[in-house]
Amino acid sequence: MPTFRTKIPNRFDLPRRITRLGELAYNLWWTWNPDAQRLFSRIDQELWERLNHNPLLFLRQVGRSEINAASQNKHYLGQYDQVLADFDVYLGNTEPWFARMHPQDSPKTIAYFSMEFGLHETLPIYSGGLGVLSGDHLKGASDLGLNLVGIGFMYAEGYFSQRISEDGWQETQNNPITVSNLPIVPVLKEDGQPLSIAVKFPDRTVSARIWELRVGRVPLYLLDSDYSANNPDDRKLTTRLYWSDLDLRVMQEILLGVGGVQALRALGYDPQVWHMNEGHAAFLTLERARELVAEGLSFEEACARTRTSNVFTTHTPVPAGNDEFPLWLVDKYLANLWPELGLTREQFVDLARHKQNFGETFSMPTLALKFSDHRNAVSELHGRVARRMWNYLWPELSEEDVPISYITNGVHSTTWMARRQRMLYDRHLEQDWLEHLDDPETWSHVSELPDAELWEIHQHLKRKLAFYLLGRARQRWMKGGFHPVQVIASGALLDPYVLTIGFARRFATYKRADLIFSDLPRLFDLLNRPNRPVQILFAGKAHPADEPGKLLIQEVYRTIKKAENGGRLVFLEDYDINLARYLVQGVDVWLNTPSRPNEASGTSGMKAAINGVLNFSILDGWWREAYNGNNGWAIGEDSDLSTEVQDKADSASLYHILENEIVPLYYAERGADNIPHEWVTRMKESIRTVTPQFSMSRMLKEYAERLYFPK
Ligand SMILES: *Cc1c(COP(=O)(O)O)cnc(C)c1O
Repeated sequence: MPTFRTKIPNRFDLPRRITRLGELAYNLWWTWNPDAQRLFSRIDQELWERLNHNPLLFLRQVGRSEINAASQNKHYLGQYDQVLADFDVYLGNTEPWFARMHPQDSPKTIAYFSMEFGLHETLPIYSGGLGVLSGDHLKGASDLGLNLVGIGFMYAEGYFSQRISEDGWQETQNNPITVSNLPIVPVLKEDGQPLSIAVKFPDRTVSARIWELRVGRVPLYLLDSDYSANNPDDRKLTTRLYWSDLDLRVMQEILLGVGGVQALRALGYDPQVWHMNEGHAAFLTLERARELVAEGLSFEEACARTRTSNVFTTHTPVPAGNDEFPLWLVDKYLANLWPELGLTREQFVDLARHKQNFGETFSMPTLALKFSDHRNAVSELHGRVARRMWNYLWPELSEEDVPISYITNGVHSTTWMARRQRMLYDRHLEQDWLEHLDDPETWSHVSELPDAELWEIHQHLKRKLAFYLLGRARQRWMKGGFHPVQVIASGALLDPYVLTIGFARRFATYKRADLIFSDLPRLFDLLNRPNRPVQILFAGKAHPADEPGKLLIQEVYRTIKKAENGGRLVFLEDYDINLARYLVQGVDVWLNTPSRPNEASGTSGMKAAINGVLNFSILDGWWREAYNGNNGWAIGEDSDLSTEVQDKADSASLYHILENEIVPLYYAERGADNIPHEWVTRMKESIRTVTPQFSMSRMLKEYAERLYFPK
C-alpha cells in the first residue's frame, strides 16, 4: 500500500450546495460519463468549449451569476445529486468484475508502464494510437476493478500542435503545459517536500519528482525531471515525447524503466505484475533484476525470479517503432549498471544484441522479449508477423512455436461513444447493458433498433461535426494571415448532407494516405457527381523527424487545394482526441488503407464502428478479424503481395467499391421517410459485431486471465 498520499487542493470558490464539482474536476472519471460532463457544460456551454473542456479552468473562470443560478436550479441539482451518487458508487464499488471473478488475485498490483497516455484533450501527454490505447487501458482497468497503477512522464511541453503552411508543410508549435491548470497533483513526503527518485548514470544522477493523476479508481504516476534538482540538459528529458536525439532518447527510456521501478518503490508499491506497453520501458527488467542482485542473488537467479511476472506487448512490425541504440550509447549511459548486475560489458550487450548490416545495436524489444515470460502482439495477423520477425531469438523453435501470443486491441467504449448513441442504447437494450458491454448477447438486439431513431441520431452527429468544422474555418478566416484557399482546405465548403468519409491517423508512409489519390481525375469525378457527391476529411500529424511523413502531408495538401475537387477534400489540422471524437462519431465511412501487414491493430475504426460509422479498410490488423461481409467493406484481398502489386490492386479495389457499392447504397432511392434503410441495416450490423468484441473490457479480461494472472 502506498505510504504517501496526495491531497486534492480545493482552489475553487463554489457555492456550498455544488462544492463537489471541484472533486469531480480532479478525477478523469467525468471524461467518460456524459452526464458528469453536462454538469460543467450546462452552466456555460460557450466557455466550456472555449476552454477546451478543462474543468479546472472552467470552475475558476465561470461567472458568479451563472454558477449561482445553477446552484439554485432544481433540475440542475437533481442531475448533480445523481452524478455524484454514481461517482461515489463507482469509487466505492467493492464487487467489480475482477473481485467477483478472481477474488484471490484481485488485491495484487499490476504496474503498467508506457511512454505516453492519451486520456483527454487537455492532457497532451500522448502522440497517437499507442498513447490512446494506454489511456483506454487505465480507464478500462478502473471499470473492471483491476488493481493497476500507471507509470509515465509528465511532459512539460506536451506533444506539439500542428499547423499546415500554405504550401502544405507541417509546422510545429510547442505549448508549455501549466500543471496548475490540470488535475495533476504532486506527491509529497510527510515533511511537505516533493517525493522524488534519483537515477544513477555513469557520471551523474538525474532526479525526478512524481505527479499523480486519478483515472477513476486507478492512479497514474508521472515522472518529471524538469525542476531545479537537475542541470538544464537533464531537465529536458521529460519536456518532450520521443526525442529524436539519441542521447536524450536513451536517457529518457532509462528514466522510464529504472526510474519507474524506483518511483513505485518510493510510493510503497510491490507490484506482482509488470507490464511494458511497447519496448520503451524494457529497462525495468534490469532494474528489477538489480534489486535482487543487491540482495545477493546471481543475475541468472534474479532473472529467473522476475521474468515470470514481466509482461511485454509489442505494437508494431515497423522498424521505426522498435527502438534500438548504438553500443557507444550503451557504454555512455549504462556502464554503471553492468557491474551492479554482476556482468561484464560483453555479457551486458549480449542481453539485447542486435546484429544489423550497419553494425550492432542494443534492441529494446529484444530486451523486453528475453526477460518477460508473457509476450503478446495486438492482433491475430500481427501475432504471426511478430513470431516470424522475432524467430531468430528462438532459433531452435519453428515459427509457429515462437512464444508470442496475441490479444487484439479494444477501445474504451464509453469514452468514444456519442452521448446520444448511449441514450439510444439506454432506451432499447437491456437495462444493465453497460455492465455486459463485452457480451455479444447484449448487442443481439441492435437489429431491432428503430431505423428512424438511429438515422436521426447519426444525422445529428454529422451536423454537429460539420458545424464544428465550419466554425473552425470561420475562426481562421477571421484571425487573418491565411490564404483563402487554406480556409477552403480547412472545410469552409463542407456540406452536412453529403456522404462523408473520414481518414485520420498518424501520417507515416505505410499508412498510404495517398492511395485514394492514385487516379485524380477519377476521384474528382466521384466527388462531384450531381446528386451524389462525396467529401473526404483528412487529419493527422507526422512525427517532426519523419521527413517522408511530412512530404506525404504536403502531397495530400496540394491535392486538397485544387479547385477541381470542389472543396470536398479537406485537411483538418492538429488531430487530437477532441477532433478524433467528432470524426469517429460524425462521418459516414471510416477509411483505412495501410500496406499489409504493417497496421498491427489500429483502433480508430473501432471507435467509429460503435457509433454506427461503416469501416472501409484493408484486411489488416483488427479489421481482418471484424469484417464479416455485411458490417462494412474490405479493400483488396486477404493475401500477401509485393508492395507495388499491392498498391495497384488495392487502389483498383478501393475505387471499384466506392463507385459501385458505397455511393450507390448511400444515395439509394429513399422512400417517404428519406432514410436509406439498407445503409442503416449495415450500421446496425457494424454496431452489433464490433462493440462487444473490440471493447476494452474484452481486451482487459484477456490480459487479466491470460497474461497477468494465468492459471
Ligand atoms: C484512436 C486514435 C489514434 C489511433 O488510431 P489508429 O486507427 O490506430 O491509427 C490516434 N490518434 C488519436 C487522437 C486517436 O484518438
